[in-house]
Amino acid sequence: MGYIQYETQDRVAIITLDRPERRNAQNAALLKELDETFDRAVDDDEVRVIVLKANGKHFSAGHDLSPDVFDSEPWKSMMADSDTNGLLRLYKWELKHFFGYSRKWRDLPKPTIAAVQGACIAAGLMLAWPCDLIIASDDARFSDPVIHMGIGGVEYHGHTWEFGARKAKELLFTGDFIDAEEAHRLGMVNKVVPREELESTALAMARKISRMHPHGLLMAKRAVNQSLDAQGMSTALQSAYDMHALGHANAYAISGEIVLVGLDEMTKANKESSDS
Ligand code: ZN
Repeated sequence: MGYIQYETQDRVAIITLDRPERRNAQNAALLKELDETFDRAVDDDEVRVIVLKANGKHFSAGHDLSPDVFDSEPWKSMMADSDTNGLLRLYKWELKHFFGYSRKWRDLPKPTIAAVQGACIAAGLMLAWPCDLIIASDDARFSDPVIHMGIGGVEYHGHTWEFGARKAKELLFTGDFIDAEEAHRLGMVNKVVPREELESTALAMARKISRMHPHGLLMAKRAVNQSLDAQGMSTALQSAYDMHALGHANAYAISGEIVLVGLDEMTKANKESSDS
């Protein structure tokens, strides 16, 4: 344990990402601890609402992609038999831990509120989007730039559901950020507040919701989420996850790595070698 802080205030559970020195980049241990902490909040009958926030300047820089991560577990064993099984282990691992956790957290039987500041990049979205409400500080910015790595988007394809098709394509194709104001205008964010009011605003909203009857809250949440699922959200998410996995497979076929790190450099080098 050590990446997550947990406390309760009255009927509100507060879960805090606590890896600010790495911009709350997510490694396997952080995600496991976060999942266990969500379970703890769900299992506590006194808790009515869950707030997810982050220490430091940034909410989350996404998955931890530092080179030492890929040289250690669980990645090492995932690739150990890739000569015979291809990327089967990787597919199953991401299905459970990246895609699966976000799916699970989206349907937790209690209201959840994300308080987001600074950068929320790629897998950072996979923490914020599954929450029911998002409060952003005015310095928050959001992007999913994994197209630079030859992948069509993060494992959990919330994009189209969060912004609509047109904006989702812009965000994915360009890898650009959208800022808090634009995210608010698009309906992805409930409220934008000054940085110093982020936590107090999220907690005030949580306290207000915590006074509602828990059964009513659960039925309201299920009504909204199941309306999205009736429009095909669950099926679309699963299908988009498979396309994400195809991105890894294609990168692996090209480079022997699951992502095309330094794609720009690679394109440049290829061009130079074909020019000469
Ligand atoms: Zn992946």
